Amino acid sequence: MAKKILYIFILTVLAGVLIFSTVMMIKYFNEAAEEEKQMENNPMLKPVNETPSPTEVPATPTPSPSPTPVPEKNYDEEFYMSEITDEIFERIKGKSYPEGATISLDDLRWCHVVHYGFDGEIHEGEIIVNKAIAEDTIEIFKELFDIKYEIEKIRLIDEYGADDEKSMEDNNSSSFCYRTIAETTVLSNHALGLAIDINTLYNPYVYTRKDGTLFLQPENAADYVDREQENPHFIKNGDECYNIFIAHGFTWGGDWNTKKDYQHFEKEIE
Ligand SMILES: [Zn+2]
Repeated sequence: MAKKILYIFILTVLAGVLIFSTVMMIKYFNEAAEEEKQMENNPMLKPVNETPSPTEVPATPTPSPSPTPVPEKNYDEEFYMSEITDEIFERIKGKSYPEGATISLDDLRWCHVVHYGFDGEIHEGEIIVNKAIAEDTIEIFKELFDIKYEIEKIRLIDEYGADDEKSMEDNNSSSFCYRTIAETTVLSNHALGLAIDINTLYNPYVYTRKDGTLFLQPENAADYVDREQENPHFIKNGDECYNIFIAHGFTWGGDWNTKKDYQHFEKEIE
């Protein structure tokens, strides 16, 4: 009987030890897991040398494959001049260069330019001027191009049959045309290629005649006679277009006292 009690006692002790150690083991693992969790959440407890997690790395943009870069066009080579070749003469003969014209072809230069149009696009232009102002002309149109100054058309007046009125009505900018000053017998500076007209419809030639009537060229420019209006295509004293011409030694028709030729710039040559 005593032996049986001893067995039960030993078994109870063993069971107790087993339960105790199991509980201790569970407790130990729980604590370890807890500690690990804390390490993860608390940056202060993190090892110093640990590399930042990917989310903390600032995203470096992966260079996307781009098409072969197109070198920006150099428009300088679009500005050039030539003498009046046979081909050019064929285009002006009997028009802007009528029979009996007293200026020699040798004194004229044909200039090729590019310009921004009223559509904001780049267009080709050609203009014939006196060789004395040909360099200036190239530089002026290059400077106007650089500031993206809008000029609607720069075509030879011969495309309008050398009819100044038609060219102006179409807002064409031009220079050489062997003709007299309107309503006079005096040869115009355009006859020598020493004057350049810019955006002619928006910048008309206007004055009041002695009889009180209005002289207006072109005839369809009535909307642009009032120069107090705001219009990006108006040439005004002190604006970009004006300053470029003045810097090249030109004078402006808008500065004349009685007759106002807002499109007109001319240069006096000694
Ligand atoms: Zn003019």
